Amino acid sequence: MKITTVGGYEEVGRNMTAIEVGGDTFIIDMGIRLDRVMIHEDTDISKMGQRELIEKGIFPDISKVKGNVKAIILGHGHLDHIGAVAKLSRNYKSAPIIGTPYTMELIKHERRYAKIPNQLVTLEQGETIDITSKISIEFIRMTHSIPHSTMCAAHTPEGTLVYANDFKLDDTPVLGKKPDYDRLKQLGRDGVKALIVEAVSVSCEWRTPSEEIAQKLVEDTLLKSDPDSGVLLTTFSSQIARISSIVEIASRMGITPLLLGRSMEKYTSIAEKLKILDMPEGAHVYGDQKSIRRVLERVVKEGKEKYLPIVTGHQGEPDALLSKITAGKLPYKIKKDDQVIFSSGVIPNPINVANRYALETKMHMLGARIFKDAHVSGHASKEDHRDVLKMLKPENIIPCHGNLTMLASYAELAEEHGYSIDKDVYLRRNGQNIVL
Ligand SMILES: [Zn+2]
Repeated sequence: MKITTVGGYEEVGRNMTAIEVGGDTFIIDMGIRLDRVMIHEDTDISKMGQRELIEKGIFPDISKVKGNVKAIILGHGHLDHIGAVAKLSRNYKSAPIIGTPYTMELIKHERRYAKIPNQLVTLEQGETIDITSKISIEFIRMTHSIPHSTMCAAHTPEGTLVYANDFKLDDTPVLGKKPDYDRLKQLGRDGVKALIVEAVSVSCEWRTPSEEIAQKLVEDTLLKSDPDSGVLLTTFSSQIARISSIVEIASRMGITPLLLGRSMEKYTSIAEKLKILDMPEGAHVYGDQKSIRRVLERVVKEGKEKYLPIVTGHQGEPDALLSKITAGKLPYKIKKDDQVIFSSGVIPNPINVANRYALETKMHMLGARIFKDAHVSGHASKEDHRDVLKMLKPENIIPCHGNLTMLASYAELAEEHGYSIDKDVYLRRNGQNIVL
């Protein structure tokens, strides 16, 4: 079994791993690195070729992927795992793209704008598919911060490989079911040859709290909000469980939730189509600028306190709605004592930190009241990782999704469980190999 660490082994973003067994290769994830998109002004990746995207560090460098690619597997639908599919999958035309329903609807959405020649295959959580006569892929039910997330188990003649990138262990996930612990334990009993595992939050010394806790934080903040002033809320567009909680709480309070922004429209309309998200009566989604402007005019006319706009832009992205509203570019203006709730954390890269600083400072100058961190993470912390190690008991471990500090933190955790670096836990950079 040869594992090529294509992308995501030096950074948070552009995840991609290739596994070769007996001459057949399969790829797991094909992601994008978003902070590298943001540092180049006016970057329109739809107009850039794959070579340029690879050179700028936005896409994973596929030049090291060898062998006959039999399948492209997508573990979940976040852009740092699927954002390069539309352009890179055409290098492996005969390989089907396999993902859960929510992930594959996102790929179909991409297909409206880009030619994706590959066959698209939908596999439910808990199901298994043969990709060759000797290799099968199993999707194990998992929780994260987007619907239909999985851990992937690849059953091969060289043993079983488990891909755990990304996940959290959430027993009360608000939407969907808790992780399939029985299956993980069974895999551990049967033998796991290798575990490829995310390292994003491994240095956080606790268990990542459940999404139910985030729901309570949002509820507590909203219920105590001043009913005479405006309330704006911002969160991750793909965090459908959170959005479901927010719209439910707002309608219970008699306020009409409005979901605003292009990505908000994309992710929530797919969730509605798949019956994952149940929108209360009166709630609406507006994606294009014209209708957003129109509905915000109505909000101002009828009274801000009657509506809860849920907008894009929690990282302070200058082009997103929250920044535009703060800059006074839309009919909805932030006035003194208006309340802005961030149901999100800051994704820790210097660009986001700077953007958020600028946004919050402008809001303060307008007299807004800011409520930060009504949020819990979607990534496993140290004690969750320990539980997974105990369940899976892998022979070999390859930490992924992080910079070297994050990967090394995972290696330290593995050492506490009897593993040793370069004997059975491997630290790799992008474009390297491990042969097991
Ligand atoms: Zn993710």
